[in-house]
Amino acid sequence: MKTVRPSAPQLEGLVPYDPKYLPARVMLSANENSQSLPPEVEERILAELKGFAFNRYPDPLANDLRDAIAARNGLKRGNVLLGNAGDELLFDFALAWGGPGRKLLNIVPTFSVYAANARLTGTEVVEVSRKADYSLDEQAILDRMAQGDIDQVVITTPNNPTGGIASREFIVNLLNASDALVMADEAYIEFAGESCVDLLAEHENLIILRTFSKAYSCAGVRLGYVLANESVITELVKVRQPYSVDAVSQVIGRAVVANLELFEPRIEAIKQQRDLMIQKLRQIPQVQDVYDSQANFILVRVPQADRVWELLYEAGILVRDFSRSRGLEGCLRLSVGLAEENQLLMDELARILSELR
Ligand SMILES: *Cc1c(COP(=O)(O)O)cnc(C)c1O
Repeated sequence: MKTVRPSAPQLEGLVPYDPKYLPARVMLSANENSQSLPPEVEERILAELKGFAFNRYPDPLANDLRDAIAARNGLKRGNVLLGNAGDELLFDFALAWGGPGRKLLNIVPTFSVYAANARLTGTEVVEVSRKADYSLDEQAILDRMAQGDIDQVVITTPNNPTGGIASREFIVNLLNASDALVMADEAYIEFAGESCVDLLAEHENLIILRTFSKAYSCAGVRLGYVLANESVITELVKVRQPYSVDAVSQVIGRAVVANLELFEPRIEAIKQQRDLMIQKLRQIPQVQDVYDSQANFILVRVPQADRVWELLYEAGILVRDFSRSRGLEGCLRLSVGLAEENQLLMDELARILSELR
């Protein structure tokens, strides 16, 4: 038998993204919505799937869904591009604005997918660190941008896994600092407040990423989109997979967008639970840090974080262990779930920490 020659050089030593997918009774590790779709939305989807043309290729650009999303955002079809969730669009962003000889500014710690995509596409990664409290070092970022050699930057607002937002004023300054393409990753914006979508009118170098996976209960569907000026969308269309958004996902997306108001009370409840959890976490004496969050998760620092993660898992609760990630030593990320799930997590965490030796 012949051996095989080595794979592409950029794959050497690369560790695939590991979402730490493990089944558990209480899943609070992936910032999913603990509730599935509202029954009315589910019924509409099931009705549309009866007698559905599964044999036909989907509309490649999902134009009906583009129109619906554009209308919701005061934009036109040409300002919207759908993808196989945010992850695919992040990869398209890396392909279209990165590549050999080009640079991504990565503001760390943040979502690890940006750096992984840069590596796969041969893009150089330039890092600027957040401050010790994980707030943005705005001046350091603007100074680095002003050097003019950065091609793309992602500003995650709210940031995953630290939870804080970027101010509108800072985003404007970032857009004005150079002609690099600035992605505002708004995966969690529904839990935070105002989007920067209105800035698209004045800034050709802005692109906004959104997903159906978090606030809209569709992590299992794989649907996301970007909002940008047409000149940017045109370039992304060149690199995207033509049929990446399947026909069933398009049906689901249209049903969700037609019923966004049904999600509002649920989003409100998650925000209330988050604020309550932050209060309760601050009352557990062994918890060293609880970071303010505008998202549906909370980053905490605890002693023996990896042991605490294990004991929570043994108690049937899965959270995300970041304690071995650079800049996040000792940290666990707790997704906000249903009231009873959160209560169980608080009780078990308090118990485990009080029994640690
Ligand atoms: C979850 C997430 C995404 C996108 O997730 P998809 O499920 O691929 O849409 C993008 N950015 C951040 C920061 C996220 O946390």
